[in-house]
Amino acid sequence: MADSAAQEFDILVLGGGSGGYAAALRGVQFGMSVGLIEKGKVGGTCLHNGCIPTKALLHTAEIADGARESEKYGVRANFESIDMDGVNKYKDGIVAGKHKGLQGLLKSKGVTVIEGAGKLVDQQTVDVDGTQYKSKNIILATGSYSKSLPGLEIKDRVITSDEALKLDYVPKSVVVLGGGVIGCEFASVWKSFGADVTIVEALPSLVPNEDATIIKNLERSFRKRGINFSTGVRFDSVDQRSDGITAKLEDGKTFDADLLLVAVGRGPVTDGLGYEEAGVTMDRGFVITNERLHTGVGNIYAVGDIVPGLQLAHRGFQQGVFVAEEIAGHNPAVIDESGIPRVTYCEPEIASVGLTEAGAKEKFGEDSVQVQEYNLAGNGKSSIIGTGGLIKLVQEKDGPVVGVHMIGSRMGEQVGEAQLIVNWEAFPEEVAQLIHAHPTQNEALGEAHLALAGKPLHG
Ligand SMILES: Cc1cc2nc3c(=O)[nH]c(=O)nc-3n(C[C@H](O)[C@H](O)[C@H](O)COP(=O)(O)OP(=O)(O)OC[C@H]3O[C@@H](n4cnc5c(N)ncnc54)[C@H](O)[C@@H]3O)c2cc1C
Repeated sequence: MADSAAQEFDILVLGGGSGGYAAALRGVQFGMSVGLIEKGKVGGTCLHNGCIPTKALLHTAEIADGARESEKYGVRANFESIDMDGVNKYKDGIVAGKHKGLQGLLKSKGVTVIEGAGKLVDQQTVDVDGTQYKSKNIILATGSYSKSLPGLEIKDRVITSDEALKLDYVPKSVVVLGGGVIGCEFASVWKSFGADVTIVEALPSLVPNEDATIIKNLERSFRKRGINFSTGVRFDSVDQRSDGITAKLEDGKTFDADLLLVAVGRGPVTDGLGYEEAGVTMDRGFVITNERLHTGVGNIYAVGDIVPGLQLAHRGFQQGVFVAEEIAGHNPAVIDESGIPRVTYCEPEIASVGLTEAGAKEKFGEDSVQVQEYNLAGNGKSSIIGTGGLIKLVQEKDGPVVGVHMIGSRMGEQVGEAQLIVNWEAFPEEVAQLIHAHPTQNEALGEAHLALAGKPLHG
């Protein structure tokens, strides 16, 4: 690496995860010099400890379920067991391939990757393990970590998603603390791998941010799959022994298992990084920005999980791109958080974008919202692949579709059209006139809009 005096950039990005590396790649496209500081591996949580490895596990889970149900489809196969060495080889191979690809991409595009732990020194300087780098603009993108509860130590049989991704065996039983996205995804994987799973959620339901109809459907599906769950009662404590754990709830109920997975959310990685000292406004560790992701201090911006809002990789990508364009003077359109698509990749998958029915009623008034449900039982392709589920549309009365909520195997793939519908503020009759290929699950979206436009075909 060249000496520090020579290291002056147009943009310095602190953190090479989804938000940081996207900003770096977009920045060099404008001919700017970009330094990307990363203390671990470029790709961050999403590539190494998040989206990619969990979805590989979920794909293995789908294959295991397929083997169990093969007879139904006229295939003579038996599900014997999960070979975790094989699973990890497959998962790690995907991650390593994508990591290599990303490293090559950053290099070929001219991003200077600086390996080491960075700390903000002042509005134009970052220290990386003793070497100082200057920049006209700085983007904070240090991401998030798995949180725990006060007094709940992550140790041995009490693990987070980080350790769960490295397990070299299938636990016989697991208690999953937290019924949000990460909790439901791991519960789904382990159930398919043959474990007994119990989810413990303090709020009244699993995936509490989803539409009530979707929640009901997921809970029914999980019950049918034999995934146990307790909702509405808070976790109290865990007793950890050499042969297992006992999780205790505040109502005195206990659950025994091999492992306790703590999936209670993710906190921002900002502690001790000099942000506050540089004058950046912080709130419980999160970096506060305006809608243009500017911190209000010098030319310092922030993107990704450290900015309050949905902690999703594609939000981080978009914010990274946005900030690079902003710095380049392109005046990009402000990102509308409510238009960000969300997928929970458990079985069945949940995909949603926009307002829930309750959210729409709160915004437009009780009588100014229309909803339409379309059951996947009427969809040929869904029957072929053996899934039930539904699509629920939420419409501002006589106005555009403001929310699309879907549940069923593989429905995550349908979120692309759903997000166009919501973000382009399409009216039901506009979507209804578009042709959806037959037989696809995508067709169900078309049918739902036909029904909402008052002309159901198969409804
Ligand atoms: C189990 C799990 C599953 C997930 N699944 C999905 C999914 O399916 N879809 C989805 O959209 N999102 C998913 N997410 C969320 C997604 O991973 C995050 O939203 C995304 O990674 C956030 O990107 P980021 O750039 O803000 O931070 P990160 O990806 O966390 O990257 C931050 C980077 O900064 C580096 N860093 C931190 N401090 C310093 C420092 N001082 N100096 C140098 N480098 C530093 C870190 O090493 C890290 O590489 C999942 C997360 C988890 C944990």
